[in-house]
Amino acid sequence: MRAGASSSDPRSPGRAEGAILLLGRQGAGKGLLGRLLASRLRRGFLSMGDVLRAEPRRGTALGLEIGRLIEAGDGVPPDTSYGLMAGVLATRRHDEPLVVDGIPRRAGETCRVRHLLGGEPCAVVVLDVPTPIAVARLRSRQSCRECGMPHGPDWPPFEGRCRSCRGAVDPRADDHDLEAIDRRMEVWGMEAREIIAYYASLGVVHRVAADAAVPDVLERVLAVVAIPSA
Ligand SMILES: [Zn+2]
Repeated sequence: MRAGASSSDPRSPGRAEGAILLLGRQGAGKGLLGRLLASRLRRGFLSMGDVLRAEPRRGTALGLEIGRLIEAGDGVPPDTSYGLMAGVLATRRHDEPLVVDGIPRRAGETCRVRHLLGGEPCAVVVLDVPTPIAVARLRSRQSCRECGMPHGPDWPPFEGRCRSCRGAVDPRADDHDLEAIDRRMEVWGMEAREIIAYYASLGVVHRVAADAAVPDVLERVLAVVAIPSA
């Protein structure tokens, strides 16, 4: 934790408007931290992964194709994925403050994100986690069938049920395909530098070490978003 930062202030972040984006490699813990952060800050939560994973369950041709792309570790085309995100946002209050996970995935998408969210983010939190920890998390991650909340060794299901909604947690790990994990990490590594440089030029980037237990990482994130960025 940074010296001088308040440790658990749940008040709104430095700027009144703008989303908080969570960035980081696969396995950095964005999905879970995003949910917890949104809850603590009383913001809505929007996750590209959740939106995409919901589509195959609809059983449409598009949903099945998206399912196939996710299974293969390939990206869903941005016209499709951002279109789905816009559809989800259209059902929300237009001025709802948000915590957003999973976008941008590529450096060229920062303007899509700006359009989707109606402006630049007020804060971009980059979760830094060493590769072995990220891979271990991915290989053991399970998700709630009802709300999608990820669970793992440092955030286990409670009595076999989801810690958020008490739904059933799938006993099978989400990410059992090592090659797909590798491929997604490689893509993120190539894109991350440029994406972070863009947001750094706006002065909104905060880097947080995410190699600790979930509650500790949450406090670190709260500490950086609760103070105005330089
Ligand atoms: Zn749940």
